Amino acid sequence: DRMRQDFVANVSHELRTPLTVLSGFLETIRELKLDPSQREHYLSLMSEQSRRMLRIVEDLLTLSSLESAPPPQDERIMMTALMARLREDAEALSAGRHRIVLQCDGECDLLGAESEIQSAFSNLVSNAVRYTPADGEVRIRWQADVSGGVFSVTDSGIGIAKAHLPRLTERFYRVDRGRSRETGGTGLGLAIVKHALARHQSQLDVQSEPGQGSTFSARFPARRITAVRPAAVPAVALDRNQNADTAKGE
Ligand code: ADP
Repeated sequence: DRMRQDFVANVSHELRTPLTVLSGFLETIRELKLDPSQREHYLSLMSEQSRRMLRIVEDLLTLSSLESAPPPQDERIMMTALMARLREDAEALSAGRHRIVLQCDGECDLLGAESEIQSAFSNLVSNAVRYTPADGEVRIRWQADVSGGVFSVTDSGIGIAKAHLPRLTERFYRVDRGRSRETGGTGLGLAIVKHALARHQSQLDVQSEPGQGSTFSARFPARRITAVRPAAVPAVALDRNQNADTAKGE
């Protein structure tokens, strides 16, 4: 109950701030005679605040669907393609300010709900870019073999002091509120990551050093890993299967 009350208070606060700014600017536009450039300025501030509210609401909806949805339907997530998309997103967000490095070790895919996994991984990548100053590096890595897989994102960014680490995945917990807001954060990204991973029997691990950078990683158990190219099936076994199918048909 206590957690629910805190959560409702937090959501209300998070939405009230942009809403207050938005309604203040609306009044200004209605009541003051503004020249076109001032008007344009207020309108762009207003659309920034409404985009912020939209991001918060979208993240809240994602979280609530992760909490209430039935266990994920397992599908093969083509990791090479997913990694390429993550790189594209990182490049777009970074706009040339960072070096983005991709590393894939082992030809294995992941089994899970692609939309959930993509949302978790892209939150980690977007954080790495947002909390790394220009000229820094973001390394996205997928290592997998039949014993399991590890997805990780390492950045050379601002890092996080030890005291904050246990609370990072709490909803709306932010180490640096100003930086989170400036870069379009909602404070819900890592809560989404934690939930999406838990639904795939995985946990978030964070290693970080203030001023040096961070590594966020997730380990997946063997049963969620599948080889890209299945091992060749012996011809005899194939024959026997075909016979079995024919027998069933008859
Ligand atoms: P936000 O939308 O504020 O980024 P998150 O839930 O994604 O919210 O992250 C929570 C907080 O953890 C952030 O506000 C930031 O202070 C810290 N954080 C997350 N990722 C990193 C990172 N790669 N480097 C430094 N700090 C980070």
